[in-house]
Amino acid sequence: MSSSIQHLILLGPPGSGKGTQAKLIASKNGFSHLSTGDLIREQITAKTPLGVEIKGIVESGGFPDDSVVVGLVKDFMRQATRGIVFDGFPRTLPQASIFIEMLSKSGIKDIIAVRIDVPDQTIIDRLSHRFMCSECGAIFSDDIPLLQAGVCDSCQGTSFIRRKDDTEGAVKKRLSIYSTQTEPMVKYLSEKLPFFVIDGTKKPESVTFDILQVLKT
Ligand SMILES: [Zn+2]
Repeated sequence: MSSSIQHLILLGPPGSGKGTQAKLIASKNGFSHLSTGDLIREQITAKTPLGVEIKGIVESGGFPDDSVVVGLVKDFMRQATRGIVFDGFPRTLPQASIFIEMLSKSGIKDIIAVRIDVPDQTIIDRLSHRFMCSECGAIFSDDIPLLQAGVCDSCQGTSFIRRKDDTEGAVKKRLSIYSTQTEPMVKYLSEKLPFFVIDGTKKPESVTFDILQVLKT
C-alpha cells in the first residue's frame, strides 16, 4: 500500500449528487470506485468461503456484518495502486468505527471525507422533478425542457417513467431517515478524519472541481 495515494470518502444525502461525483472522479481522475455492494457480489459470484457464507443473507435482502464488510474494504485497499473513492461506505456508525480502527491499525493516514451539502428543499425539488427514459435510462428534469417535447434526447424513445420513491412525500421520508441514521456517522467521521464540506448546489463539473481542490490540500 503506497503512502502517496490519497483516498476520498464521499458523503451526502440521497439527491446530493454523491453517486454521480464518485463516478466522475473515478472515470476522469484516475480513482478506483469502491462500491461495497460490488465487493459483496464478487465474493458470492466467485463462491469464496465468505461468499458462500453471506449469500443467504444478501439474497434475503440483508447486509453482511459490519466487520465482514470492513474486511472486504481492507482487502480492496491493500491491493489498491491508486486512490479510492468511497461511495456509500461507511454506511452506519458501527461500520465507521470499525473502519477507523482498521485504518489506524494499518497505518493508513492519507484519507479525507467530503460532505456534499445540498439544502433539503433543493433535493426535494431535484428528485421530485426527475424522470427517466424507460428505454435507455437517461435521467431528465421537469426544470430543463427536452430538446423535442416527449422525445428522449439520448435515444429518441418516447416513453418515460418516474420512480415511486421520487415523489415529494417519499423524498422527505428518505431525507428524514438519512438524517436520523446517517448523520451521526457523518459527525463521527468529521471528528476522526480531515473533513470538508462542499457546496453541492453548483453544476456537477464545478462540484467535481471543488472536491479535487480539497484533495490537493
Ligand atoms: Zn432514452
